[in-house]
Amino acid sequence: MTTSHYIAGRWVEGQGSDCISVNDPALGQPFAELMTASVAQVDQAVAAARNALPVWKQVSANERAAYLRGFAEQLGQRREALISLQMRNNGKPRHEAEIDLDDAIATFAYYADLAEQLPERNREVALAAPGFTARTRLEPVGVVGLIVPWNFPLVTSAWKLAPALAAGCTVVLKPSEVTPLIEQAYGQIADTLGLPAGVLNIVNGKAETGAALSSHSGLDKLSFTGSNSVGSQVMRSASAQCRPVTLELGGKSAIVVFDDCDVDQAVEWIVAGITWNAGQMCSATSRLLVHDGIADALLPRLQQALETLRVGNPLTEEVDMGPLTSQAQWLKVASYFATAREEGLQCLAGGKALDRDGWFVSPTLYADVPVDSRLWNEEIFGPVLCARRFSTEAQAITEANDSRFGLVATVCSADLERAERVADALEVGHVWINSVQAVFVETSWGGTKGSGIGRELGPWGLSGYLSVKHVTRCLG
Ligand code: NAD
Repeated sequence: MTTSHYIAGRWVEGQGSDCISVNDPALGQPFAELMTASVAQVDQAVAAARNALPVWKQVSANERAAYLRGFAEQLGQRREALISLQMRNNGKPRHEAEIDLDDAIATFAYYADLAEQLPERNREVALAAPGFTARTRLEPVGVVGLIVPWNFPLVTSAWKLAPALAAGCTVVLKPSEVTPLIEQAYGQIADTLGLPAGVLNIVNGKAETGAALSSHSGLDKLSFTGSNSVGSQVMRSASAQCRPVTLELGGKSAIVVFDDCDVDQAVEWIVAGITWNAGQMCSATSRLLVHDGIADALLPRLQQALETLRVGNPLTEEVDMGPLTSQAQWLKVASYFATAREEGLQCLAGGKALDRDGWFVSPTLYADVPVDSRLWNEEIFGPVLCARRFSTEAQAITEANDSRFGLVATVCSADLERAERVADALEVGHVWINSVQAVFVETSWGGTKGSGIGRELGPWGLSGYLSVKHVTRCLG
């Protein structure tokens, strides 16, 4: 049993009624257990964050930046332990676990810089009307609840924690019950750095704990990353209290491949976009739109690339793709394989679970998928790619945009003018041209339509935790 809740600067045992099993998905077996936080402990965490707010607000922006740099440095010092834990609990291949850690480090370093620049953004406003002065003050939103999923635990938490702390907010973080140990590093680092007690609190638990936090009357804001179904419940809680909410939700993103592409290069981008993290990415490019002129050359190569991908246990084998992270996710993906059979889809690769211990599935490709297929429309969250052909640029744009989601898209073309034109026409939050899943802290993250509300990363991520105040004075 692990002591796993960090409340008011102390590690405490869970007093909830439920036990969380932490699993190794490559074996399909648990390797740790912890008790959930009780609702009373969620109350304590929110109260601790509330008590710490006046203290943290008084800490200068430069000092906050120093703490954030401390987080970046301390993450680096825990490098090997955090990489191993992500490999074991998420099933990530080593190189992907390394990328996640580096992303989290870069996020803390970036928001340290932005924290230092904050005072400069508090400045006089030039007024056209005479007789008045006005100045801007950017203030922390207050006490913020942060609820995150399991697919990129270090990263999604860093994308919330770093800007929230930079802004001067205090927080209660609830990690996913699937990966509850990884973010404990943030509590340990807070301890090491001597972060004032209550500035960062961590409560672990399942839906009940998340609901207790998201509906808590002591919050000033909630920032949620996860599924659309839970996101809408979180939004309902926020609306009951007329409180701001940021939502980073699901996706069903398109990758558009034109006929002037190098086939091998395109295959590399397509495979990475659907098999990184075993396809468990909100930003997975799971809808392939391929130009008629290149489809017959590309699809067999893609089939071959997916069939020869090395799938296995990242802790014991050289792999390109690990298992799905949870049994629930494995069962969900398997149910889509059954749906594909019922729908009579043409399966070019995979389409089945692997016959071995653990929660493995084959990288999968369905071709000529009808637009009304469930697999074309629904987020599967696994290495399952659906392909369709198009003949004109306009058709590609229309089909790419024909989705209730709008998170990201990829455009592959040697004609950069066309690629930019298509990027401009896509109804999403982020477009990659001739690259795949390249996320930089300076650019934004977030979606249009059903993919969410608000933006993380970049200055927009910081703005989400800042409240704008103006002080206007009459000179007369
Ligand atoms: P999920 O919605 O099931 O869970 C997310 C978090 O919410 C977990 O911590 C969970 O314990 C908590 N939760 C569950 N029920 C709750 C409730 N009733 N009230 C409050 N909290 C509750 O999502 P998941 O399965 O962990 O993650 C996968 C989903 O996350 C996918 O849809 C994926 O697209 C999305 N996601 C989006 C982004 C993004 O940036 N847009 C990034 C990563 C993942």
